[in-house]
Amino acid sequence: MSTRAATYEAEVLSRTPLSEHLVRLVLGGPGLADFTSTGVPDEWVGLLVPGQFQSRYYTVRSWDPVAGALVLDVVVHDVGLVTEWAKGDCVGDVVVVSAPKGSFAMPADAAWLMLVGDLTALPAMARIAEVTGVPTRAWAEVPDDVVALAGYLPGRLEVDWLEQPGDGVSRLADVVTDLVWPEGDGYFWMAGESAQMRAIRKHLMRERGLPGTAYDVMGYWRETTGRQPRAVDPGPVYRAGKRAGKSDEEIWADYDEARG
Ligand SMILES: Cc1cc2nc3c(=O)[nH]c(=O)nc-3n(C[C@H](O)[C@H](O)[C@H](O)COP(=O)(O)OP(=O)(O)OC[C@H]3O[C@@H](n4cnc5c(N)ncnc54)[C@H](O)[C@@H]3O)c2cc1C
Repeated sequence: MSTRAATYEAEVLSRTPLSEHLVRLVLGGPGLADFTSTGVPDEWVGLLVPGQFQSRYYTVRSWDPVAGALVLDVVVHDVGLVTEWAKGDCVGDVVVVSAPKGSFAMPADAAWLMLVGDLTALPAMARIAEVTGVPTRAWAEVPDDVVALAGYLPGRLEVDWLEQPGDGVSRLADVVTDLVWPEGDGYFWMAGESAQMRAIRKHLMRERGLPGTAYDVMGYWRETTGRQPRAVDPGPVYRAGKRAGKSDEEIWADYDEARG
């Protein structure tokens, strides 16, 4: 039996800017016929763009099995394999996506949900908020005009739009440290720049004393000075961690380490 993860060829059917730094790509075509969603709302796929040998990971913003349409919302930043491709006219290009995987695991008895993230986390935050029924608050740190993004998250959500500092360095760790938490047991989900996420994991464990089942904090990208980050598929790290009985936050710490 092959242990290779399934991959799917897809064509870029459309490219629509949603804001200055966020571009919606709709993928489709017969290569996606066997694509199946995990149903986990922060599920992601590896995306391999033309002329590249390394994938990058993107949240499945939506998958419509009837239309065969897979929507990815891609942050366009300064330099990078996908960002430079997505800035151009990529409609008609053929890409490869991997089978999706997800890690969001809100306990059934959670009384509330807190979502925190930067622009890369917005697609997952939107999808999570669409499918969960508990009272939910969101904090989103974005570099763009929030008017353009205002409709991105479901209307029932109470959202704090935070302006990303001009130096491009996220302040999300400080924001979370200062949060006033709701009463009772809930679930905390967060994703963004890895160093911020490491700081938050420590805060949640040490200062708030939360069990690993009460939160999921993921480093989605790594701020680097010159060196390219290693693209490491979160899937195998996640599965190996689960097999070893590790908590989600330990697994995501392993993932940060694996990217070196
Ligand atoms: C599970 C998961 C889900 C994700 N979902 C999404 C998603 O839905 N949408 C999305 O846009 N991203 C998402 N990401 C993040 C995305 O994979 C990274 O941002 C990736 O590095 C982008 O690849 P690139 O080829 O553009 O840049 P790379 O070639 O990886 O990096 C080049 C340079 O750009 C910098 N860089 C990378 N990302 C950013 C950024 N966002 N802002 C500023 N500088 C950056 C790096 O530090 C590096 O110096 C997700 C990541 C994971 C692990």
